[in-house]
Amino acid sequence: MILSDTFLNYLTTGFIVFLGLFIALWISLIIWAYRDMRLRSRDLFARVLTITVVTLLPIIGILIYLILRPSETLAEAFERSLLEEALLQEIEKKSSCPGCSRHVENRWQICPYCHVRLKRNCVSCGELVEMQWAICPYCASEQPVEVSGVDRESDRFELDTDDQALLYDEEESTNWTISD
Ligand SMILES: [Zn+2]
Ligand SMILES: [Zn+2]
Repeated sequence: MILSDTFLNYLTTGFIVFLGLFIALWISLIIWAYRDMRLRSRDLFARVLTITVVTLLPIIGILIYLILRPSETLAEAFERSLLEEALLQEIEKKSSCPGCSRHVENRWQICPYCHVRLKRNCVSCGELVEMQWAICPYCASEQPVEVSGVDRESDRFELDTDDQALLYDEEESTNWTISD
């Protein structure tokens, strides 16, 4: 009888200790999941859902969370988007014509499709330089300042259509003024 009581006491104590440790682990996992989710999503609903699942399903909930959580943190996503944007800008800047947006080669001076001037030769060393650069990066000599080559060239190229558009616009605006 006494032996049995002692054994029961041990069993109860063991169970209480185990329960305490389990609860500590459970709460730690809830806190960890909340912190982890905060790094991965700004969505309040997703955070609440995470806490609910992890709280209601101890251990199993954390496994479900680990499977379903967003693969990257907000910081990682931000970094990646910056990198992608930089790459995209670089590609666009290098390979599309400012006049017609068609693909152009880096070394072309003029767009073969719309005749917009893309680059010019440095007045001193002859290297290809961007139209808007006031100084040559190769030999540091100043370039003649002029109105952007894009505007000049497209003005010349589309003079007729521009004039027509302008006339049309003027008529339109006059009509508007009269009707008003
Ligand atoms: Zn073009
Ligand atoms: Zn130069």
